[in-house]
Amino acid sequence: MPMKRVLLKLSGEALAGDKKTGFDEATVTEVARQVKILCDEGIKVGIVIGGGNFWRGRSSENIDRTKADQIGMLATVMNCIYVSEIFRSQGMQTSVLTPFECGSFTKLFSKDRVNKYFDHNMVVFFAGGTGHPYFSTDTATVLRAVEIEAETILLAKAVDGVYDSDPKDHPDAVKYDEVSIQEVIDKKLAVVDMTASILCMENKMPMIVFGLNEKDSIVNAAHGIITGTNVTV
Ligand code: UDP
Repeated sequence: MPMKRVLLKLSGEALAGDKKTGFDEATVTEVARQVKILCDEGIKVGIVIGGGNFWRGRSSENIDRTKADQIGMLATVMNCIYVSEIFRSQGMQTSVLTPFECGSFTKLFSKDRVNKYFDHNMVVFFAGGTGHPYFSTDTATVLRAVEIEAETILLAKAVDGVYDSDPKDHPDAVKYDEVSIQEVIDKKLAVVDMTASILCMENKMPMIVFGLNEKDSIVNAAHGIITGTNVTV
């Protein structure tokens, strides 16, 4: 059965395609095509995007970490504005919300605002992470999913699911069809970071992990067709 309300997480690198940095318009347009199918079905879609295609807080050892993380959070705002505009060009209505003031570029996040926009069938982007340093957009994803009462997180990744070891380094790595969040934490499996995993467990927020580059993977995941990994709580 299709979901009613989902939180889609896209990594910054995924936006960059093969270039690894900046934006790849074809990749984002394909994401837009799939999200539009979900919107047309009445599914409410919230989106969190990472910032790794521009900057990570760990990118420089020479500047203060808090400031470096602020640059990272602003990178996610740039990503959301870009993707939001591509979505609009594909016929969707969108809004970009942030946990801090960005003047007239975005609006401040609040749950009431999200519900209002969802009622108007808009796609809502949660930019700027949690608004705090030392966190990640993984944690922002779980936090916002819990706050907006999403049924599940759709985690679109470069790899096509959760493996028992990194498939890039271990060709014999085995993919899980299903794994509990407790096992993810115990075995430190690379799904989302530890802070985000604990938040998932404590708030019973499940995740579906899949490869962004697989055909129709976002639509399939939102329809409960899981080719990647089901992370249960
Ligand atoms: N960031 C932050 N707080 C947040 C979310 C993100 O400080 O709540 C910063 C952090 O510097 C991070 C960068 O933004 O490295 C990009 O976010 P992303 O989650 O893509 O980073 P990653 O986990 O890949 O480092």
